[in-house]
Amino acid sequence: MNFNELNLKKPILDAIRKAGYEHPSPIQEQAIPEMLAGRDMIACAQTGTGKTAAFALPILNQLTVEKKSRIRALILTPTRELAVQIFDNFKKYGRYMRLRTVCIYGGAKQGPQIAALKRGCDILVATPGRLMDYMDRKIVSLDEVEIFTLDEADRMLDMGFIHDIRKIAGAVPKKRQTVMYSATMPKEIESLARELLHEPVDIRIAPTTSPTENVNQSIVFTEKTDKKLVLADYLNQDAVRKSIVFTRTKHGADHLVRDLKRAGIPALAIHGDKTQGQRQSALERFKSGRVGVLVATDVASRGIDIPKISHVFNYDLPEESESYIHRIGRAGRAGERGEAVSLCCSDEMGLLHDIEKMMKQEIPTVETEWSVELTRKKSGGNSSRRGRRNGGAYGRRSGGHSYRKSSYAPGHRRYSKKTSQVSSRVQAS
Ligand code: AMP
Repeated sequence: MNFNELNLKKPILDAIRKAGYEHPSPIQEQAIPEMLAGRDMIACAQTGTGKTAAFALPILNQLTVEKKSRIRALILTPTRELAVQIFDNFKKYGRYMRLRTVCIYGGAKQGPQIAALKRGCDILVATPGRLMDYMDRKIVSLDEVEIFTLDEADRMLDMGFIHDIRKIAGAVPKKRQTVMYSATMPKEIESLARELLHEPVDIRIAPTTSPTENVNQSIVFTEKTDKKLVLADYLNQDAVRKSIVFTRTKHGADHLVRDLKRAGIPALAIHGDKTQGQRQSALERFKSGRVGVLVATDVASRGIDIPKISHVFNYDLPEESESYIHRIGRAGRAGERGEAVSLCCSDEMGLLHDIEKMMKQEIPTVETEWSVELTRKKSGGNSSRRGRRNGGAYGRRSGGHSYRKSSYAPGHRRYSKKTSQVSSRVQAS
């Protein structure tokens, strides 16, 4: 299908062309015609499917009278990062239109947000808490909202926003179009949908179980305690320009950032315990290229759109197999090839098994200086060292290989670069 077949206005089609999109994604193909027909909609789609454009394009298309400067479209989203991202998307797709989009979220100064609202707003992107605050203080009125969108509804419920959502929905005119996006469809979401939506179309985009083709995947079997070494070795390679490192816990993310910094590798953490300001500033520094390594947990990273990632590292394998697909999908965006490297220790063999079973493929093994032999099997696995090391906590000096320019533990030892060799030790599960 072609975007021209979707009945979108010319300025929107021009903006899509400028963004470099060639074809609508499946969710766009299904959702845009329904939204343009004025239907309510519940869509089960994960981030990365193009869901933002799936609601943003028809919203822009439907707000025919430009510069009315009354809030006619409201998008509720759980976090500041997502709000900013949606706002950026509206700017991108609405670049040839004269509609004003304003973004409001907690944890940031109110002055500039209120000033922007006063200048006029056609499309409001908001997190629930901050919007409630402005509603209570009569800074915003939702009396003229025509299209109400709830993005990542499941996450808003997880974050305890249900009461705010109900109040906000109550402040929006009854005669409206309501669209709800959710990555998962638990009972609570279905009942919220019954409450807020009127005869909705139900669109379900199956969760992706196969990885994007433009990402080279590899796995390094190593001891848990050596993961830092393996990672630092990779991060010191010139080809690793911009990377996200995934850890399972917030604590783990903080510790890793600290250790990387000690090793002379600037890194930033992004997770739920960071303030909004800290997360935003980390993201901006990463996006602008000032810091090349972002250490993230799954929850914090969900929905964040960071272009041009060369590498994704799974420092810890994810508990949920589908997270693996989402994580590695961050590399190799927009036609570029990316690399996804997973570090797996013996405790994680069960998780690896689940991931490979879901993808119906085995991830090729890469041998490094700190590799150990692990056997893929159903639950758990055994490790056997491939040779004693003579190093302390930060590994051994590796003779005969090309050394990296920086060392992980200053004064300790340097790194060898063996990480590009794909081992033939891949065993069938
Ligand atoms: P989302 O799922 O909304 O977070 O979008 C994921 C990424 O896909 C974003 O970087 C979008 O800019 C991009 N994108 C959205 N629609 C398309 C499309 N039709 N073709 C190519 N890229 C797209």
